[in-house]
Amino acid sequence: MNRRLLLIIGTSLLLFSFATVDDWGFYGHKLINRMAVYTCPEDLIEFYKRNISYISDHAVDPDKRRYAVNGEAIKHYIDLDNWGKDAINTLDRDLFKAITFHSNFYVIDEKDTVLLFDTLHYAQNELVFTNEILSKYLILKSQFQTKEFSNWMKNYAWREHDPLQWIVVMDSLKISGLPNGTRLWIQDLFTTHGILPYNLDFAYRRLVNAFRAKDHSMILKLSADIGHYIGDAHVPLHTTKNYNGQLTNQNGIHAFWESRIPELLAEKEFDFLVGAAEYIPNTNDYFWKIIGQSHAYVDSVLSIEKRISEIYPKDEQYCFETRLGVLTKLPCETYTRLYNEMLDQQVERRMQASILAIGSIWTSAWVDAGQPILETNQIDEESIVQSQDSLHVQKREIKVRDHE
Ligand SMILES: [Zn+2]
Repeated sequence: MNRRLLLIIGTSLLLFSFATVDDWGFYGHKLINRMAVYTCPEDLIEFYKRNISYISDHAVDPDKRRYAVNGEAIKHYIDLDNWGKDAINTLDRDLFKAITFHSNFYVIDEKDTVLLFDTLHYAQNELVFTNEILSKYLILKSQFQTKEFSNWMKNYAWREHDPLQWIVVMDSLKISGLPNGTRLWIQDLFTTHGILPYNLDFAYRRLVNAFRAKDHSMILKLSADIGHYIGDAHVPLHTTKNYNGQLTNQNGIHAFWESRIPELLAEKEFDFLVGAAEYIPNTNDYFWKIIGQSHAYVDSVLSIEKRISEIYPKDEQYCFETRLGVLTKLPCETYTRLYNEMLDQQVERRMQASILAIGSIWTSAWVDAGQPILETNQIDEESIVQSQDSLHVQKREIKVRDHE
């Protein structure tokens, strides 16, 4: 192995250690959740202020869960460009309709696994299924496009969700032509591309319910969580399949934008006076709008870095710093500042927007729950439910993308 090759391997390992820094960095998420507290209205601010350490420290719990909890990783991103140019308008906002529309369905028979339909993407509503082996079943594809079916997906099938092997028994929903107890294999081709906006909606409903129940521990846990997901939704690279510049030879750009810039500049130079939280009447629209705005920035995030990397001296782009005792390759300070300026403070503006959105969503959940009066004592951390998603907890190492 020659020296040049060794150097390349060494360099890419160092770059890798930088590229796997989590979204907004741990630092950024904590800061954003903390600042969001100060946007809350008078009746709410005291509760959050008393528990500000929890809200801030636990802003990163969802990232910690990604490797331990099955189904967590996909909640942090959506590859919008995987679903066409106008995906923000064309994707079904009902997750379960979207999954059905984009996935393959198989029937597991006594002897065989037989394709029922390969996505409903091209299906006409009343196409009769006439597969040779399955001809004993006469099935209208339209039966999979009903409200009943998506409710069944939501209330029953989703509990069994496993992106690798999702097998569900059809015993609580009648599909004409399929015997009761039929086993379906849903080959999920949708959720691996991320479900961030859908997840925001689920997280919001849970938060409203926690406020309604005046479950202080749960309110705090879910507030910290949703703060994280809203923060992620403001990061352009969380809305694209080119999430780390890997498709355009810009590996590492994810952490450059969302970790390196804030860590270097946020505290000293960014302005976090973002005004007061607002009540959001239609939170679902609001979440999709955030995703749409983030996605509109993807182009500038990538093209500006590409441009400066071509004109800036190559040997002055990356520097070595010791972080937690590890020599790490990072974009140099002057290079980082140049990128930030060329982006016209985009990172600062997305952080500000995250803070205001988080405060507004906490406030809206509280209002939608009827503005309950909350205790203003500090909630004992021990009593706060440990982060876990009761539906998907599995004790195993889970392979996920590095960035989300
Ligand atoms: Zn995340």
